[in-house]
Amino acid sequence: MKILVLGAGQLARMMALAGTPLNLQISAYDVNTDTVVDAISQQKVAHGLTAAIANADVITAEFEHIPLPILDQCQQSGKFLPGAAAIKAGGDRRIEKQLLDAANVQSAAYAIVNTETEFQQAIAELGLPLVFKSALAGYDGKGQWRLKTADQAAALWQDIADFLAADTKQAIVAEKFIPFQREVSLIGARDAKGNISVYPLTENHHVNGVLSTSVIAQASVELQLQAEQIFTKLANSLEYVGVLAIEFFDLKQQLLVNEIAPRVHNSGHWTQQGAEVCQFQLHLRAICGLPLGSTHEIRPTLMVNILGEDTVPTEVLAIAGLQLHWYGKTKRPGRKMGHINLSAANNTELKQQFNQLISLLSPTAFPQLDVMLKQL
Ligand code: ATP
Ligand code: MG
Ligand code: MG
Repeated sequence: MKILVLGAGQLARMMALAGTPLNLQISAYDVNTDTVVDAISQQKVAHGLTAAIANADVITAEFEHIPLPILDQCQQSGKFLPGAAAIKAGGDRRIEKQLLDAANVQSAAYAIVNTETEFQQAIAELGLPLVFKSALAGYDGKGQWRLKTADQAAALWQDIADFLAADTKQAIVAEKFIPFQREVSLIGARDAKGNISVYPLTENHHVNGVLSTSVIAQASVELQLQAEQIFTKLANSLEYVGVLAIEFFDLKQQLLVNEIAPRVHNSGHWTQQGAEVCQFQLHLRAICGLPLGSTHEIRPTLMVNILGEDTVPTEVLAIAGLQLHWYGKTKRPGRKMGHINLSAANNTELKQQFNQLISLLSPTAFPQLDVMLKQL
């Protein structure tokens, strides 16, 4: 089968690497340059979306910020999974909040802000502190503002007003600040028959708004079940086909949805060596109508993102249970350049091996890894 992925980044590349053993042919469409590239080598193979759609058996996406005409054209082909509605819900926080409300799934209280009056109303109704998020195009914590005290409101409104004036399509979603205990995510898949298979919850740590580390979470059966029930509600309400990721705030054993990602997710990279079927192949299986197989955890595993660096000491490869994944991208400050997966037979060994890894990595390039170490 031939699969066209909208987006030509590392997620398309890892899908191609995971789909190759099943003889799945993956090409990636770069929405910025209107070219089709080989998902692994990034070499250009063709030009233009119409021919790429005609040539594909299935179309999917590796990110949600895709121009609407492209989504609509893919939808019309009848080959697009999880489909335009799911991608739009992930790409516009207003639609996302409507989806959560309609599915009766709890998230942070919110208000949509387009004007100064709405800004003041949001403060009055929701109370402080607040998080303001751009409705469109936000990722890695970009396009967000925090308001802690009322005396900062006037200056913040100026910033937000400038932002809204620069792009008339934008809006702001104001959200109550959630004093969460930790952040977890659930990744899983739904197939066209409605079968659902999810991984264990993942605990995630961010540095400066960007995911730094993920580890299979220590979670009660009840918490896992709560997450699975939310996953089922959302996936069913979208008639979703493919891998879906849900980010949660864990508030004393009660989960609030932060956001959804209608695709494979950075917090699921550990599944490449910690689960029976990794998230990339799981997604391909779902969209190609193949059996989902098992999402069971094989062994304790964690992931460390490599941000803004194009080298790590080669000695890390001597650590048992460690695999290094580079994305072949050009170095830029803070850019997701690769990741490290680390597995062990049990948590004690994982902790020892993680300690060994931390001792080899520069603390400036890999800050706050000790925070995750303490969780193990
Ligand atoms: P991603 O790269 O995960 O797509 P994003 O830019 O879409 O990120 P969010 O996930 O919405 O942004 O927010 C980034 C981080 O900011 C969250 O992981 C969380 O740590 C914090 N955050 C977001 N919303 C809230 C909130 N309402 N209360 C407290 N913290 C929040
Ligand atoms: Mg996001
Ligand atoms: Mg997020």
